[in-house]
Amino acid sequence: MKKIAVLGSTGSIGQSTLSVAEKFPDRFKVVSLAAGNNVDLLEKQVRQFKPEIVSVMNPAAAERLKKRFPDLKLRVHSGVEGLIQVAAAESADIVVSAIVGTAGLVPTMAAVRARKMIALANKEVLVTAGELVVAECRARAVQLLPVDSEHSAIFQCLQAGEDRDIRNLILTASGGPFRNHSKKDMAGVTLAQALKHPNWSMGRKITIDSATLMNKGLEVIEARWLFSIPPERIKVLVHPQSIVHSMVEYVDGAVVAQLGMPDMKGPIAYALSYPDRLSDVSPRLDLASIGTLTFEEPDLDRFPCLAYAFDALKAGGSMPAVLSAANEVAVKYFLEERIGYGDIARVIRDTMDRHAVMPLKTVEDALKADLWARQEAERIVANLSL
Ligand code: NAD
Ligand code: MG
Repeated sequence: MKKIAVLGSTGSIGQSTLSVAEKFPDRFKVVSLAAGNNVDLLEKQVRQFKPEIVSVMNPAAAERLKKRFPDLKLRVHSGVEGLIQVAAAESADIVVSAIVGTAGLVPTMAAVRARKMIALANKEVLVTAGELVVAECRARAVQLLPVDSEHSAIFQCLQAGEDRDIRNLILTASGGPFRNHSKKDMAGVTLAQALKHPNWSMGRKITIDSATLMNKGLEVIEARWLFSIPPERIKVLVHPQSIVHSMVEYVDGAVVAQLGMPDMKGPIAYALSYPDRLSDVSPRLDLASIGTLTFEEPDLDRFPCLAYAFDALKAGGSMPAVLSAANEVAVKYFLEERIGYGDIARVIRDTMDRHAVMPLKTVEDALKADLWARQEAERIVANLSL
């Protein structure tokens, strides 16, 4: 029986994780859950899964939640301390890290330090402090298993060969809702259009990141650390059907791909049960009915965020943390319809241009860069709306 902690249990990945756990009650037991503000959904999850520890963002909500379970031996926490309690829960074997954004860094690091296996959905953790997180995992012999579908695909493809024989990792990207928009058309797109992802149903932030291709940029950085591969050997290929989830090109010319329907339960279940495979977690692939798979180069001119991610990797040190934090701020304002779609890239570029790269020796250094970028991006946004 594997005991699971879920950070971000009320989110898209969190809910899919719980539905995998529910389907395989003989394999998984949910022992701790952390959520943000959706206390009602968390309450339902507690009734169903009966965890030992839960956490919510705000202390008053934690008090209210506790009162709803007078007869359960439930420990209810809040804030960052609560996230750490959930992540390092004594009985947990594996922590599903599925909070969105840098907020996931501290609890994920706490889980690594407590020697929990990590099923990582939160890519921002590796973008902000990838080198440090991976080093900590190595030092503590902690297994870091990808949940992001592209990285899960690559992880699966890597089992076909030796690391020394890898030529390139090829990350596929759907291209998002604006794949065929001209630059002119893109200037006028609305929030509702950006939230309509052609293939995947996901949280709001990653859906916007998929529309700008920043999601792919973040994934390039994620891959760089997960698979210890130099950035110039990570390629991006637009594949609008989202059936080939990613590929590994080997030195002999063989390209190994992983295919499946676009459904996150597949990669989640694989991370939870690795190296086993569970039966019928996602819908079966019927290639004959899909018929055609197509591929094209990404257009960095129309999707500059992807280029900025490569720039940030090249600059190194604190720059990827700055890229990610500036993006978080810009996407937040776009979701509130206070800035336009085109402003997202502008805010990120301007923030990066004002940043003097620092080396990251500790998680605190990464959080400092993150905070600096948030403040700078806020200032840039304020000037935009003048
Ligand atoms: P989401 O917005 O649906 O859910 C986020 C969850 O985190 C919610 O439970 C929310 O309450 C919680 N949360 C947010 N901020 C918090 C905080 N400060 N403290 C405590 N809880 C907090 O997001 P999602 O789509 O599930 O994505 C989660 C992560 O997984 C992101 O990093 C995303 O990039 C990554 N990811 C998601 C998908 C997907 O299909 N949704 C695929 C690949 C990777
Ligand atoms: Mg992905």
